[in-house]
Amino acid sequence: MIIVMQVGASAAEVEVVAQVIRDRGIEPLVMPGEGRTAIGIPASLSNDLRTDLEAQISALDGVSKVTQTSHPYKLASREYFRESTIVRVKDVEIGGTQFVVMGGPCSVESYEQFRESARIVKSAGATVLRGGAFKPRTSPYSFQGLAEEGLKIMKSVGDEFGLVTITEVMSGDMVELVAEYADILQIGARSMQNFPLLIEAGKSGKPVFLKRGPSATIDEFLLAAEYVLNQGNPNVILCERGIMAYDRAYTRNVLDLGIVPVLKEYSHLPVIVDPSHGTGVARYVRAMAKAAMVAGADGVMVEMHPNPKAALSDGSQALTPAVFGEMMDDLRGLSGYVGRTI
Ligand code: PEP
Ligand code: MN
Repeated sequence: MIIVMQVGASAAEVEVVAQVIRDRGIEPLVMPGEGRTAIGIPASLSNDLRTDLEAQISALDGVSKVTQTSHPYKLASREYFRESTIVRVKDVEIGGTQFVVMGGPCSVESYEQFRESARIVKSAGATVLRGGAFKPRTSPYSFQGLAEEGLKIMKSVGDEFGLVTITEVMSGDMVELVAEYADILQIGARSMQNFPLLIEAGKSGKPVFLKRGPSATIDEFLLAAEYVLNQGNPNVILCERGIMAYDRAYTRNVLDLGIVPVLKEYSHLPVIVDPSHGTGVARYVRAMAKAAMVAGADGVMVEMHPNPKAALSDGSQALTPAVFGEMMDDLRGLSGYVGRTI
């Protein structure tokens, strides 16, 4: 439920409304806006309580209208926050006019491999450096990542090149450790509904990059974001990375670019597209990165390896340094058409 106050309603009138809500055991969300204040009730209300509150609040001084929210997610919805959220990390703004490219290998494999990756990412003009230290591998026999050693490499290389860093955290009890080293916490597709992890990431206050689960609906995706927001952490970035394909003979997943304008309409959160996991095939990544920009995404996350053939994970979808540079040129060329800077 959202209560819109009249233009010029006094602070005391706003407070009376807020207190009526608090009296029901719910903490209201007061959102001062241009000219008028809105008050949100970020909770699921029973029908009786909703009807009751609506009648009580509508009669209060200074109230313009009471509207029902039509979606199960609230803090993630544009009904609640009209303005697009911009997540600021150092000098990178995610969700504004800047089109943000996050590049780097699937995994941090060694200091040399990761430093070389960072050098390539930086010289191509990308601003965020990715790389997994803890890898969620389908098989326990696959490379699992360098763990804390990988985090240390990431931090030192990120600092050296002045790049914002992003890496995955797989469990709630690892949030503190990963948050110590990385600028952005990535929550992987397989963890999208790991609720204790979402809560811990929310509590950390760090920017959270939430990947859509391979079979998650849009409501499920935004409700997962809601878990982080609900901890008082507004810095959530959504990432479409492909959903389950029924035909996996040609691509690893189905990159659902159609979700981009939908998320932009129903949510105020930034949206990033990952065409690497979305297709699983390096030669399709460049086209889908361009398509993501045109679809209205705020950026892309792309896997690039100094030597994809030698990669310890996801080598088949990693761009070579040369193609990564070409993709950046493509995006720069397109950026003017969509009103973005890169
Ligand atoms: C990754 O970014 O390397 C990764 C494992 O992604 P996802 O969670 O989308 O599979
Ligand atoms: Mn990967």
